[in-house]
Amino acid sequence: VDLERIGVHESVERVFPPDELRSYLQDLPPAVDIVDDAAAADCDAVVTIAYREQFLACDWIHSIQAGVDRFPFGDLEDHGVVLTNSTGIHDRTIGETVAGYLLAFARRLHRHVANQQERSWNRPAWDEAFTLPGTTACVVGTGTLGKGVANVVGSLGVDIVGVRRSADPVPGFDEIYATEDLLEAVADADFVIVTVPLTDDTHHLVDETILETMREDAYLVNVARGAVVDQSALIDAIEHNVVAGAALDVFETEPLPEESPLWGMDEVIVTPHCGAFTRDYFRDAGDIVRENVERLESDEAVHNRVV
Ligand code: NDP
Repeated sequence: VDLERIGVHESVERVFPPDELRSYLQDLPPAVDIVDDAAAADCDAVVTIAYREQFLACDWIHSIQAGVDRFPFGDLEDHGVVLTNSTGIHDRTIGETVAGYLLAFARRLHRHVANQQERSWNRPAWDEAFTLPGTTACVVGTGTLGKGVANVVGSLGVDIVGVRRSADPVPGFDEIYATEDLLEAVADADFVIVTVPLTDDTHHLVDETILETMREDAYLVNVARGAVVDQSALIDAIEHNVVAGAALDVFETEPLPEESPLWGMDEVIVTPHCGAFTRDYFRDAGDIVRENVERLESDEAVHNRVV
């Protein structure tokens, strides 16, 4: 790959101003410009959140997200386009977001915020609030997100169980289950936290059976991708007190439609797919781009390659 021009696709503005990344990368040997769909086709590489067919004319696409389920791997392979992603940077952000959800549920903060909107001095029942030490979180996916969750939530005294395809141990996890033993892994957990990529294998991994196996007082957290959870089964499970509630950053349809019952549920926290947001995002993603520009210039294998 001969890199003369890198395009920062305008779609990155969903996460940070494109110009912040452009100036952060300005000292690189290739020229760095902000591009729309048409101008992207004239670049050797494009840094983006969205996928466009025009990118098939480039040699390299870098996704500023870790999840690349929206990219057509087959087309990229056919056109000889390299795809890299941004796994590795979301450990602390997602870890803190998930810790926030768990603290909200335990200390009832989501209810206090809701009551405040109504100017209502409304204390929880004596047995609603609890503390986190001694509770157990089952973290499904033990990669960057899973490890970040284990680290931050573990530091609050929560016991951490992990689920991955193999049952090999992972530092920071007290116990590991293989995916085929998911039912056993979720059965005793106070919190089930989903951090796996969306693939053919993980589509609706959390279904009615998993929800029924979870404790009635357990909360589901999804910070991965909406379709890893069967969303209508989850809504049913919450409505029928099969589980206590959920904190969701990702949904089967985004933005979450206004008519979704999830918006109005007392024990559901909805966040608009921003669990990994930080004012440092453009630097974290930019560092991966910088490293790969250097690797490509010295003919080394690129970091975080997906295709
Ligand atoms: P990683 O590649 O670092 O980790 C993914 C982990 O999932 C691996 O450890 C893998 O473990 C495990 N895994 C894969 N398939 C399965 C399976 N079938 N069953 C159980 N475990 C499985 O990715 P990240 O942690 O960086 O990101 C994970 C996903 O989270 C992304 O793909 C993206 O969709 C989402 N994400 C969401 C964000 C948000 O804003 N809410 C931000 C960042 C990411 P093993 O190989 O051992 O099975």
